[in-house]
Parts: sequence; structure tokens; C-alpha cells
Amino acid sequence: MATSANKPLSDTSRIASHPLSLYVHVPFCLSKCPYCDFNTYQGMEHAMSPYVEAAMQEGRLWGERLGNPLAATVFFGGGTPSYLGADQLGMLLSSLVASFPLTEGAEVTAEANPGDLDESKLHAMLHMGINRLSIGAQSLDDGLLQMLGRRHTAAGALAAYRRARATGFTNISLDLMYGLPHQSMEQWQTSVQGVIELAPEHLSLYGLTLEPGTGMDQQVRRGLLPEPDPDLAADMYEHAREAMADAGYKHYEISNWCFPGYQSQHNLAYWQLKPYLGIGPGAHSNLGGFRFHNVKLPAHYARSVQNWSDTPVRAPGLDDHATLESTPTLEGYEATSPSTSMAETMFLELRLLEGISLSEFHRRHGVSLRAVYGAEVDDLVSIGLLESDGDRLKLTSEGLLLSNQVFMRFID
Ligand code: SF4
Repeated sequence: MATSANKPLSDTSRIASHPLSLYVHVPFCLSKCPYCDFNTYQGMEHAMSPYVEAAMQEGRLWGERLGNPLAATVFFGGGTPSYLGADQLGMLLSSLVASFPLTEGAEVTAEANPGDLDESKLHAMLHMGINRLSIGAQSLDDGLLQMLGRRHTAAGALAAYRRARATGFTNISLDLMYGLPHQSMEQWQTSVQGVIELAPEHLSLYGLTLEPGTGMDQQVRRGLLPEPDPDLAADMYEHAREAMADAGYKHYEISNWCFPGYQSQHNLAYWQLKPYLGIGPGAHSNLGGFRFHNVKLPAHYARSVQNWSDTPVRAPGLDDHATLESTPTLEGYEATSPSTSMAETMFLELRLLEGISLSEFHRRHGVSLRAVYGAEVDDLVSIGLLESDGDRLKLTSEGLLLSNQVFMRFID
């Protein structure tokens, strides 16, 4: 296991007194999309039941250890959470809520594939307490959906959205992808217009990244698919920004838009460096001054939860390195050093269109942002990627397009 500085974890009472966010990783998909490098597997249906048992047990163990803190958000991500049976998803959620009681108005999100959202699954999801759906539409062009290896059509995605609405979901997010091989501006405009007409509360638009080792990356390398054009992708992003603004959406994060009041509370917790606990294979956590993550493979994960169950639990708490070192589900952890914490503030909070509050940075880190990053900020302002706005520092329109270059400047 990877370790770092010998820094004690924050005391349990502080963790228990603040609501946290809960991420639940569901590592199964009916089929693996060729562009995807997430920790998810096809053809592993036999592992679903053991996974659900293990995730419920992991939740119970962490709940005991942390003193059963409240959860302000729960996010089922993956993978394809909607690919689990409704009974499995319901058992998992109710078990987690028993260990992490929900705050009043807590946001409970499940990512969903349109192909899974029949009426009975939707009713079950709503009934069990899921109050936000994030539907992976990706495109409203059937040819592009086929190239992406998606198992739904454009009509299927639209129908799933309408069924979710008719079922009673009042907070729905749709995902679209741009910068795809073969994707024209006209196709993109049609997809953007199509989802805007549905008026979902939230939209996430992701530019394709060719992840090394994925099937799509290999197809591009072999010349079987054209290399995506970054200039065209930038034009697509600009088009979306204008179209979303015209339709009344607020652009609040580099890739995310919403109607007022419908920001993803769960993702905001990541970007604002609030505490979160990850449950499931490969899930990451940021808690008590540490970042840690679980073992990746579902079978390995289920065995490690069993080992943890068989180990006497140290009296409630997350007290020191020894506690994390002896947690069988963890593959690695590191204490968050002051310099790491400041860098994270820069590259996570700058993702938000409102940017970073200089006074809040000073309050949180005990030093002014300018004292730490003055040279980098001056340089990025001079080349038009960052701008000051009173107490705030934020990305410019150009900076939104080149955000990775900005973030690199704050990483050692
Ligand atoms: S459905 Fe989502 S998580 Fe599953 S393989 Fe496709 S992109 Fe990856």
C-alpha cells in the first residue's frame, strides 16, 4: 500500500458532525464502450450480487468507524448503476442510508443508461429515494451512437427521458459528447438543440479524450477512425455555450450547465473540496485530511470487504495511519499536505465559472493566494487565461478552452 507523511487523521467527532458526500461505484456495464477507461466490466453479471453484499457491508463498516455521519449527497456512478436490478439498487441504498442518515433535502443521484429505464425500473428508482437521474444520452445521432458503442438510439434516449419525467423525476441531467471522430458541427448543433428542447434541469457536455489503451484510441492510431479535430471541438464548445445561455441555462462549471438552483450538489462537493467517502471497487475518498482509494477489481474488492468484516474493528474512529494501513479495502492512501491542498484548491475550484475567492483561500490555507501563486497567476492573466474579478480569480473564455494548461501550472 502506498503511504506518505505520518500525519494523524482528523478526529472522528469532527467527521461525524459534518455531513459528507457518498459516492458509490457500480463497476458493471452490459457492454464496454470503446472510448471508456473507467473501472467497469462487461460480462460480469455473476459478480453483481456479491458486489451488492460487499458494498452494503463496506458502508456498514465505514458508518461504524466514522460514527454514522449524515450524508448530504449520494451518487451512484460507474459503470452503469441502472444496470443493477431495482431490488439490488434499493437494498444498497437503504443499507447505506441506515449507516449514513440523509440530511433534509439530500440529493440522491443515479447514473443511468437510457436502455435500462423502463417504466418499472423508473418507478422503483423514484420510490426507493433516488431523486436525481443522470442519463447518458451522449448524442442524438444514431451513427455516432453506434460508433461510440452505445446500446441505445437517439429515439431511445428521448423516450427514456420522457418516461423519467412522466414517472415523476423533477431533477434530470443529460450527458452529451463532442469532439468525436466523424462528428460534424451540424450533428452537434442538432444534438444540443434536441436536448435543450427537452428542458432538463442539468446538462453535462464532455469533450472526447482519447484515453490510451482504449479501443477507440487504437482505432484512431491505426487510421480506422479520423483523429478528432481540436479546433472543431473548441467551436462546438463555443456553440454550446451560446445555445445554452440563450435557453436560460447557467454555465457553472467547465462542462456543466443548469437551470438556477439545479447545480449537481454532489459534484460541487468535489470541486469545493468538501469531504466525501467512496464505496465500491476503485472508489476514491477525501476525508479527515487523507485521500484514499479502494482496490479496483470487483472480486478482490468483495474479498477485502470480507477480510475487513473478519477483523475486529478498532473502536470507532479514523484515527491514524495504522487504521488506514489496516483497512483491507484500501489500495492506497496519502495525507493531504498543505501544498497539495492549495494546489487542489486551484485546479478544482477554478473549474467553477465563479472561480476562487481570494479571501476564502486565505481563510482556508492561512496564506494569501498571491503569496503562493503570484508569479503563475500574473503570467496566466497576462496571456488571457485567468482574470481577476474583485475578490475572485477565474478562468476567461479562452481559459475555459485551455483549462488543462492552466491547471498544470499549479501542479508540482
Ligand atoms: S456505459 Fe459508461 S461506464 Fe459503461 S463502458 Fe460505456 S461509458 Fe463506460
